[in-house]
Amino acid sequence: MSNKSLVVITGASSGIGEAAAKVFSQAGHPLLLLARRLDRLEALNLPNTICEKVDVTNRDEIKAAVEKAENKFGPVDCLINNAGVMLLGLADTQDPTEWERMVQVNIMGVLNGIHVVLAGMKQRRHGTIMNVSSVAGRKTYPNHSVYCGTKSSVHALTEQIREEAASFDVRFIIIAPGVVETELLSHTTAKDIVEGYKEWKETMGQPLESEDVANSILFAYQQPQRVCIREIVLCPTRQNK
Ligand code: NDP
Repeated sequence: MSNKSLVVITGASSGIGEAAAKVFSQAGHPLLLLARRLDRLEALNLPNTICEKVDVTNRDEIKAAVEKAENKFGPVDCLINNAGVMLLGLADTQDPTEWERMVQVNIMGVLNGIHVVLAGMKQRRHGTIMNVSSVAGRKTYPNHSVYCGTKSSVHALTEQIREEAASFDVRFIIIAPGVVETELLSHTTAKDIVEGYKEWKETMGQPLESEDVANSILFAYQQPQRVCIREIVLCPTRQNK
């Protein structure tokens, strides 16, 4: 059994979350991995790992999974709120249920995770919550209005909760990547927007790999508890917007 602390990762079934699961496991941490595609979590086959089918919009599901993992591995010391969806579109034509989904997953999902673990971290006076936002939380992009809205919310709520938790020695860290090669774009339903995005991505040469983001998440977590890297913004070198 590992003597390192429990790390919880949402959206670990693909992309950045999957890469984070691998690097934190490699670093010796027991893990709780959450996503809806349980088969993809289990296929990672990582040691000292509990995989749970959880929809982050359901706070009770997160709570039950965290309790199960804490019973086995001890208190959670790091939550990586990574699950997210990007459904691009225009305000007059996009199906509003897509906006609701982004708001529910990208904002409520993050808040739900925080609500489940923060009280315990404050009590123990130790812990780190890393919220995966985006450069789209700092500036706007065509067809990204609602996605940008959700990610700027993640920036804002993270910064304020960080201030509230600071005197309890709990760290809040924003991870704000630019374009990363993952499944994220594949859920956008407007095919012309998907094609335009792919063309834009090609101008960058090489997008970031999920491992690049995962390594920066691990780096921030591994700093001494007195050091809070408040935000990591990383993008492909050629991404000029
Ligand atoms: P992926 O689509 O590869 O991964 C998204 C993850 O979120 C999946 O594991 C998915 O799991 C999970 N997820 C989605 N909805 C839910 C839900 N309701 N409940 C639980 N899990 C859910 O994309 P990325 O790895 O790129 O995305 C990870 C994060 O990085 C997101 O927050 C995204 O906004 C952010 N980001 C990505 C960038 C990029 O260019 N790729 C750039 C900047 C930020 P499942 O479907 O199995 O539930």
